[in-house]
Amino acid sequence: MNTEILKVKNLKTYFAINKSSGKKQYVRAVDGVSFSIKEGEIMGLVGESGSGKSTIAYTIMGMYRPTEGEIIFNFNGKSIVTKSNKRSLEFKKNVQIVFQDPGSSLNPYHDVRQILSLPLRVHKIVPKDKIEEKIAEILEMVELPASFMYKTPTSIGGGEKQLVSIARALCSNPKFIILDEPTSSLDVSIQAKIINMLLKIHREQKLTYLFITHDLSLMRNISTKVAIMYLGKICEIAPTEIFYKSPLHPYTQMLLSSIPVISEEEEALKPKKVVSTGEIPSPVNVPKGCSFHTRCIQCMDICRTEDPVIHQVSEDHFVRCHLYKS
Ligand code: SF4
Repeated sequence: MNTEILKVKNLKTYFAINKSSGKKQYVRAVDGVSFSIKEGEIMGLVGESGSGKSTIAYTIMGMYRPTEGEIIFNFNGKSIVTKSNKRSLEFKKNVQIVFQDPGSSLNPYHDVRQILSLPLRVHKIVPKDKIEEKIAEILEMVELPASFMYKTPTSIGGGEKQLVSIARALCSNPKFIILDEPTSSLDVSIQAKIINMLLKIHREQKLTYLFITHDLSLMRNISTKVAIMYLGKICEIAPTEIFYKSPLHPYTQMLLSSIPVISEEEEALKPKKVVSTGEIPSPVNVPKGCSFHTRCIQCMDICRTEDPVIHQVSEDHFVRCHLYKS
């Protein structure tokens, strides 16, 4: 697990909005984000709604044009560097995404066979006469019977639709998959099944995941590294064990202190209850200085005027906060 498969450098994705006055304003959905993921890792990207985590995913996939920054993928010793929203066929083969809502990401007029055969044909994975055989094999990977290929998305349940989405992502034999809240729109009863399936596939296919979620409890159990986002910026990033044992950023501490736990051992490991003050500011009017200062109980004078840069506090542990300035 040593090669960095993905490196994101100072990524910014801004969206222009027109004010009634005619003046342009910008939503800084992603504002100077840098991180890297090593081969085989599962990195959890966690944040509240509107923090910019899905925008990062869509920018990586080329669905949004980055305003600034670089996205670098390393496949088989070769680097694909991109600063625009154009993606090569090689990139599309190796990088896939599973969306939050499988209902809107699958064509309701196509059956599963048509949905899965498209990436198989585009990326020339098998000869034409072997496509159905390959579809049956991929369906088996997600524990669906081969007969499922004749069903349409409208005739199957939400969990099964998400399994088809995962199967579609697997068709091109990718190396890297972005999972954008893959279980949050599903019934609780099916969520654990999908997570276990994703972990099994990760192991068997030697994949790397960027797992976008708001669920810190889930990341504790499945990720190798966690990053926390707040208003377009990463506040803290660390290997999972360090992240949960020694959270440093006041926002991380606030989030972790509010996770419900079931055992006394877990309760003992939780940071002391940190109560937040204030409301989440609008991403259009991000506060000056540290964007978290309006809610931070440790806010200092400098926090109101100076935006902290990210500091390295130990190997692989980075925090964006004036408290940890070296
Ligand atoms: Fe709180 Fe200041 Fe750190 Fe921001 S920089 S999280 S306001 S202590």
